[in-house]
Amino acid sequence: MSAQGNAEGIVVAIDGPSGSGKSSTARGVAAARDLRYLDTGAMYRAMTLWMLRHRIDVDDAAAVAAAASRPDITMGTDPSAPTVQVDGADVAQEIRTHEVTQNVSAVSAVPQVRELLVALQRETIARARREAGGIVVEGRDITTVVAPDAAVKIYLTASAEARAHRRSREVRAADVAATQADLARRDLLDSSRAASPLTRTADALELETTGLSLDEVVAIVVKLADEAVAARQGSAAL
Ligand code: C5P
Repeated sequence: MSAQGNAEGIVVAIDGPSGSGKSSTARGVAAARDLRYLDTGAMYRAMTLWMLRHRIDVDDAAAVAAAASRPDITMGTDPSAPTVQVDGADVAQEIRTHEVTQNVSAVSAVPQVRELLVALQRETIARARREAGGIVVEGRDITTVVAPDAAVKIYLTASAEARAHRRSREVRAADVAATQADLARRDLLDSSRAASPLTRTADALELETTGLSLDEVVAIVVKLADEAVAARQGSAAL
């Protein structure tokens, strides 16, 4: 039996660069198996929105670190209607603006920001494991830092072109080339930062999604989750 106990729900951890399909995949898997869903990128975006609204210079890491504990960030984990609130107000739309997207990598590189949000993510995961069948968590450091013991660890990738097309459709941007340049800029910042950079661990399964439909990708991850649950039940029965 694992240290955390077999009665607890499963954790499916999904990392990958922007536009690799993490959010749609994670929500689809959570909905298919009645699990909770956590979009950790939305938490870094919510923190960034709060910094911008409070006129904190996001390039001043000390100022960001000093203010990081002030916003109250609350996440709703229902995959059919996930929510994100800052200081009690819904910010689902505001966190997707170009201004937040432009500034989120600077804020998420600050270690104090990561410490606070990782603690919140781990609390959310622990609650979902106790109270629901488990949780699907997506981000950049879930397989490496937030939940390295997750039963299923996936690293999603897709070609730069496919990712730019997907992201352009999401944000309704006409200029795919500009979107691709923006993704490349953010990926470079997220992969090269000192604190918890985006990396693939050897034990995470790399899933290249360029030629696959969303349903196909979801089906692959659901199968892995089912196998992990069956393996755990098998070892509990021994
Ligand atoms: O996933 P999304 O593109 O919304 O993430 C926004 C940003 O949040 C990323 O570019 C990255 O800087 C940061 N992030 C992070 N760690 C996570 C999730 C997101 O640093 N686990």
